[in-house]
Amino acid sequence: MGINYVSTRDLNKTEVKASEAILKGLADDGGLFVPTSVPKLDVALTDLAKMSYQQVAYEVLKLFLTDFTREELTNCINRAYDSKFDTEEIAPLTYADGAYFLELFHGSTIAFKDMALSILPHLMITSARKNNIKNDIVILTATSGDTGKAALAGFAGVEGTKIVVFYPKNGVSAIQEKQMVTQKGDNTHVVGIKGNFDQAQTGVKQMFSDKGLEAKLDGAGYQFSSANSINIGRLVPQIAYYVFAYTRLLAEEKIADGDLINVVVPTGNFGNILAAYYAKNMGLPIDKLICASNENKVLYDFFMTGEYDRNREFMLTNSPSMDILISSNLERLIYHIAGNDPAVNADLMASLRTTGKYQITKEMKDHLDSFFGGYTTEDETAQTIKNLYEKTGYIIDTHTAVAAHVYNQYKDKTGDDKPTVIASTASPFKFTRAVMGAIDPVYENEEDFVLVDKLSELGSVKVPNAIEEIRSAKVLHDTVVEVDDMCPEVLRFLGI
Ligand SMILES: *Cc1c(COP(=O)(O)O)cnc(C)c1O
Repeated sequence: MGINYVSTRDLNKTEVKASEAILKGLADDGGLFVPTSVPKLDVALTDLAKMSYQQVAYEVLKLFLTDFTREELTNCINRAYDSKFDTEEIAPLTYADGAYFLELFHGSTIAFKDMALSILPHLMITSARKNNIKNDIVILTATSGDTGKAALAGFAGVEGTKIVVFYPKNGVSAIQEKQMVTQKGDNTHVVGIKGNFDQAQTGVKQMFSDKGLEAKLDGAGYQFSSANSINIGRLVPQIAYYVFAYTRLLAEEKIADGDLINVVVPTGNFGNILAAYYAKNMGLPIDKLICASNENKVLYDFFMTGEYDRNREFMLTNSPSMDILISSNLERLIYHIAGNDPAVNADLMASLRTTGKYQITKEMKDHLDSFFGGYTTEDETAQTIKNLYEKTGYIIDTHTAVAAHVYNQYKDKTGDDKPTVIASTASPFKFTRAVMGAIDPVYENEEDFVLVDKLSELGSVKVPNAIEEIRSAKVLHDTVVEVDDMCPEVLRFLGI
């Protein structure tokens, strides 16, 4: 039996195949593709515990991407999870101060986005081939910092694709920006916008749903797709590492088969934690899904009250990849807790568009009892990095620190001491300035790469290749545009 995909807003529930959903990215009606049902894991956890990352990924992907052949999937997986990663384990677990940190930052751009974006280009090219697509695929991406570089690295030089990345000019870390603007590859284009991430994301979504633009592109031999976490081809590969983490704990006898664990995820667009939710629904023994926010705590408020309200000040924090007020993937959860009801979801999303907020019903809220929301202030985030370093010598990045602090809050509040996996979403080297400043304010006036070497020394970790590479790399992209000029800039790049 195959799994198909429907849009969260389509009253007719028109089904498309996985490959079609991956190619489209966003549904025509502006909704997101969701699976018609969530498949159950069909291999015993104890057997998965004996498998490599690549093999576990296959066992998960085959259940969701049912129109791909075994050969197609293994090809995609082997091209993605190879020596681009600096460890054979791909996603190792590190125990520190009572929790297991699932290090998702060993790929080419040292953030967790690599876990999905190293495979997405292969899934997309395979999908294009399966569906006899002749057009070149143009990837449009809005980034809060990490998606951009990971998508550029994934798509650079991939034949039949072009990629345009929009980032908030003043809303990413210095190292994130340098990583993007030094990107090589004729098929890549990086554009700063005079606005924030939400504006970048809204601009991209508008281009996706512009029928006139679609026709114009088609005439020139192009079609858009998305590398943002709204693409189901990003979400599915993320489910794999939760299954992998659980089965590693099992292999190391930290837990017994069937024991429940908790998962803590530092959250922005709600993609990573949604993948954990799907993993739980596949039968992986996860108890609580702990959703950690920074001072942009729109999700914390949502879990407390059932009201999602983006009408508030947008904060720039030291965890910029979570500086988001419109968490796109929450729409998928809303659809599911409404009983897979596109009408209810479409109404709420219309309300979000027009009033900036919506309220879910009591019945829907009752379906959220496996979620726990928490948030941290900037000071708490910094203090968490410092405390963990002083106690254990382990250095975590600012995003992971948001999660670690919320986990401590959760334990204090509930006394729940189940084994817990914290998604460690970025290498501390990606946010060196904020991390070193948290450890000791004396570092605040040092230059970025001096801090990089200092961090390597303090943490006894080698400077990752991704950072070494940009030390002396040339800036190749310096375009900055107004929010209103995003679309003309895309057309200019494509020569239309
Ligand atoms: C993207 C990102 C997040 C947020 O992930 P979502 O899937 O958008 O919730 C957290 N931390 C880092 C380092 C990221 O790059």
